[in-house]
Amino acid sequence: MTATRARGGYHTLPSVDRILNWRAVRDLSSVYGSTASVDAIRTALDEIRKRISAGDNATDLCEPNTLTRDISDRLAERFAPALRPVFNLTGTVIHTNLGRAPLAAEAITDIAAAAASPTNLEFDIASGRRGDRDVHLENQICRLTGAAAASVVNNNAAAVLLVLNTLARRKEVIVSRGELVEIGGAFRIPEIMQRAGAKLHEVGTTNRTHLKDFADAISTKTALVMKVHTSNYEMRGFTKVVPEPELAKLAREHDRPFVVDLGSGMLVDLEDFGLPHERTARETLADGADLVTFSGDKLLGGPQAGIIAGRADLIAKIKRNPMKRALRLDKLVIAGLSATLRLYEDPDRLRERIPVLRLLTQPKAEIAARAERIRPAVAKSLAGLASVETTPCKSQIGSGALPVDLLPSVALLIRPAGGGKLGGRKVGAFAAAFRALPTPVIGRIADGALLLDIRCLEDEVGFLAQLGALDLTGLRAS
Ligand SMILES: *Cc1c(COP(=O)(O)O)cnc(C)c1O
Repeated sequence: MTATRARGGYHTLPSVDRILNWRAVRDLSSVYGSTASVDAIRTALDEIRKRISAGDNATDLCEPNTLTRDISDRLAERFAPALRPVFNLTGTVIHTNLGRAPLAAEAITDIAAAAASPTNLEFDIASGRRGDRDVHLENQICRLTGAAAASVVNNNAAAVLLVLNTLARRKEVIVSRGELVEIGGAFRIPEIMQRAGAKLHEVGTTNRTHLKDFADAISTKTALVMKVHTSNYEMRGFTKVVPEPELAKLAREHDRPFVVDLGSGMLVDLEDFGLPHERTARETLADGADLVTFSGDKLLGGPQAGIIAGRADLIAKIKRNPMKRALRLDKLVIAGLSATLRLYEDPDRLRERIPVLRLLTQPKAEIAARAERIRPAVAKSLAGLASVETTPCKSQIGSGALPVDLLPSVALLIRPAGGGKLGGRKVGAFAAAFRALPTPVIGRIADGALLLDIRCLEDEVGFLAQLGALDLTGLRAS
């Protein structure tokens, strides 16, 4: 390419001012503002200059419709919300990467109200004096768990960190080797303990720990005895764990707190909803735990938060730790968590009101009927490029709750036509096409097919309405 040709190409570039006067661009500018519009025009022109110098045709690139669409796309992308709603058809109901629990309508309403106006966050309306932000949740948590006191922080990892830093700094924490778990996303119990300034004292073996192991480990250096819910794995075979009442008794005899990290934690008996049992905070405290910690956004179905509940003297110490200030909740989460906890005061209607519980307890027959209903439309949108069948599958609860208890569900199985090795490679392209929809559809790939678990598909109408936008051009060509 010669310099003359390149110069000739640049010469056809319209000026920023001229583009700003194109009618469609004027409309964009009135929507997005002139600063961002001018910036988008400049970036688009820079891109065109690069392509001209690479030999592309300047006249084509500067065609007003093409250029306007490019500018419009750049602006739309810049002004899109950071978090986009997606369809979670992965089969993992409480999916950490997809933001865990969808909130109850009541929680959303209260969050919006708290966001829109000043509130009594740290203000006692009756006395007109400064208040404490924990009071909004503490009474509710105590009623629902039987605890004497409670405090709430940013998430359960923060709750564990704060408890250990408050009660075990420069001292030892006795934990069973079988419970030194990694929860995922770099939450490892030994590392949190180190960052909290506590020394880990491991006892027992990976598969078996006895009460005597704990008893032998207790010394003047011991700050507390801890039990961690092995959230995301289960030990089978020749195993032994010490029951909580026995650990609690041992800790009490030595005047040391017994702390249980419940992980997900729950406030009601899941068996009442036909789900496997998950120990509740109330049961664990009744078994003698001095403190429990658990998440607000796992099985509880609220916003991200970490709840600490138990003995009043220990909670008072925790609240005095300056680190509490760094880990505290903001008003939006307090509003959302309080609304969620309020729903737990009426267990009979929980199933309809807490989306996580509603999704976990979907009857298989309902999921199957929904899958059958939408199957023809999905098949049609794939235009013969893939087959679509309904198939039984297993959903998981997710986020480390009840790891091995899988829930019977039904999925759409999308298998690329042609099969064989080629089909295996193509399935990634189908998954990408579903992710590229206006509301991305996230499934999972298994055995050379794309699986869309229908358990969590609540907005059937919205799902069907966007199928027409499925872009399979890349797949057709190959
Ligand atoms: C999930 C989990 C955590 C971390 O909780 P977050 O709310 O995600 O911070 C800690 N401990 C256990 C046992 C868990 O399962």
